Amino acid sequence: MRSDTVTKPTPEMRRAMYEAEVGDDVYGEDPTINRLQELAAELTGKEAALLVTSGTMGNQVAVMAQTQKGDEVILEADAHMFYYEVGGLACLSGVQTRTVSAPHGILTAENIRAMLRNPNDIHNPRTALICLENTHNRAGGTCYPVNVLAEIKEMAQQSGVPVHVDGARIFNASVALGVPVRVLAGYCDTMMFCLAKGLGAPVGSMLVGSKAFIDRARKCRKMLGGGMRQAGIIAAAGIFALTSMVGRLAEDHAHARMLGEACLEMGWGIDLSTVQTNIVVFDVMPFNVSAAAVQKLLAEEGVKVSQFGEFRLRMVTHYGITRQDIDYTIAALNRVAKKLRQDSKR
Ligand SMILES: *Cc1c(COP(=O)(O)O)cnc(C)c1O
Repeated sequence: MRSDTVTKPTPEMRRAMYEAEVGDDVYGEDPTINRLQELAAELTGKEAALLVTSGTMGNQVAVMAQTQKGDEVILEADAHMFYYEVGGLACLSGVQTRTVSAPHGILTAENIRAMLRNPNDIHNPRTALICLENTHNRAGGTCYPVNVLAEIKEMAQQSGVPVHVDGARIFNASVALGVPVRVLAGYCDTMMFCLAKGLGAPVGSMLVGSKAFIDRARKCRKMLGGGMRQAGIIAAAGIFALTSMVGRLAEDHAHARMLGEACLEMGWGIDLSTVQTNIVVFDVMPFNVSAAAVQKLLAEEGVKVSQFGEFRLRMVTHYGITRQDIDYTIAALNRVAKKLRQDSKR
């Protein structure tokens, strides 16, 4: 339950990898990578796409290709790009961040407008990029409502600031909302999404946007050491992921919902309105213990979860986690809750 990054490739995916036609991609000659990039561009309604080694590389390259040193980038305060990318924005692009906390991690056009810099004031850095996270990981897998995206797009266009979406789990948002990825991507200029999470590929993320953007991004990727050779083996898994693994995400969402509802019933602290996709973030405060203590008790039951703060834990459902595993996890959470209640009575 730690993360959907632990998924392993399916047997069919491995077969597709074995049989992949390959070439040198730095020369643009890997037919399988070219096919994956065409597929990603088509699915998102963008001109072009680029295979990158990880979601982090995709996000960092997107910033690098669209900013200059000293620019400002707007982010939600718990955004992966700010929180979990090793300070890459400062280190690789030399940009500074402007963050604001938003309920459920979902920024609004109003939030963002308040953070835009007036370009006519000599003191101000240039606001170069707006970054949204869909679904929002630390907020518990929450989705941007389509009307919010539309308002942000309109405001951003008026201000002349491009919008990048960290769409590591954009297919989860698409399945949960019943809205095609192409529609969600239509509200941003550039987007990154992961092949290696719920979609089950062993490696890889995609960056999509205009042809001019992808040309710049390809150069940035090369600079970071991400120019790959016969990586069609990886791309074949990505094609399989995009064509065969999207539909089943609904099952992960149903599993997360079951876990979330069970957590609420047992008295763990949880806001069920955040359980929209495959992530369940819950609070251990009601039991007066630390997240680390509960993590350890669950590990003893054979259930691995992630620590998400001093009193918060995260569970993620994904390919490879069955209905039986969910039932087992609920039983384990129940046993731990009972034990903690008894301990506190003593
Ligand atoms: C996982 C994730 C990424 C990228 O992670 P990598 O491990 O670098 O592939 C980016 N953004 C979000 C929201 C994520 O959850």
